[in-house]
Amino acid sequence: MNAGPRPSRHFRLQELASGVHAAVAVDGGYALSNSAVVDLGGATLVFDTGLTPRSGADLARAARRLTGRPADYLVNSHWHHDHIRGNQVFANPRVIATTETWELIRTRGAEDVASDRAEAKVRWEEFAAGKVPTPPRDRALLRGWLGGIVDSLPKLRLTLPNLTFDSELVLRGTRRTARILTYGGGHSPSDTFVFLPDDRIAFLGDLLSNGYHPWLGDGNPDTLVQILDRISSLGPRTLLPGHGAPGGPRVLSAMREYVTSAQRQVARHRRAHRPRKELAGLAIPEKFRNWKFSSFYPDTLRFLYGRAARG
Ligand SMILES: [Zn+2]
Repeated sequence: MNAGPRPSRHFRLQELASGVHAAVAVDGGYALSNSAVVDLGGATLVFDTGLTPRSGADLARAARRLTGRPADYLVNSHWHHDHIRGNQVFANPRVIATTETWELIRTRGAEDVASDRAEAKVRWEEFAAGKVPTPPRDRALLRGWLGGIVDSLPKLRLTLPNLTFDSELVLRGTRRTARILTYGGGHSPSDTFVFLPDDRIAFLGDLLSNGYHPWLGDGNPDTLVQILDRISSLGPRTLLPGHGAPGGPRVLSAMREYVTSAQRQVARHRRAHRPRKELAGLAIPEKFRNWKFSSFYPDTLRFLYGRAARG
């Protein structure tokens, strides 16, 4: 399934179908999130561009090598930094996003870069000095995340999408069709995914996470569950999450279960009239205990508690 020697220290390539490859982020590398390369036939599509121009450059090279041409289309699944900051290294592609994601990259994405310029170096130095308590399984991940941001800042230029859509955009190549879709926001205020109907492969960005705790605090968990159900009804056979290994439909149902079990945990806590500050003591459900990014979990519980308290 692997496409020859590892092309990058930031990701490993995995063939999902002939002409369809996942670039699965390697812990400690500067991509942080997964990407995909699709040979549409006569055009090349790249889904998400990772955290840094450095990992993006390796992705651009891999896309050219795998498809015989530079990327014609990039898709930015949502505005978060680990999915868009590789945009700048690609040569004149159409960069596709929803209108709302374009607006969010322009505003919050720019604020995010400014705050990284002000604070990332201190965050990195505290982490490197061992001042940030980090479970061993998350250490490489954080080293790549914080280190990648610091390393990339001198040359980083926020590169905006230049082709926006609001519900669906279809690219029809000679080899396959790509449906670029949004069902609104679940993980973020606006999330895009790609479905390849000929192969029944879907790239979900952070609507899906596998073996890594998802970050839920910028989205809407209720609509996230609805979106996952709608995606499930498209009948995908292979799903690429934003973080973690690709898998079958079971990965999708596990993500659904993650969200609903956290919601149930918070509901029980509230019914017992327990205070918000005691949420940090709640155990991660057994099934998700080995997932990375475990520091996200208490934040998720607090976020869900706040939403429930507001009604
Ligand atoms: Zn995200």
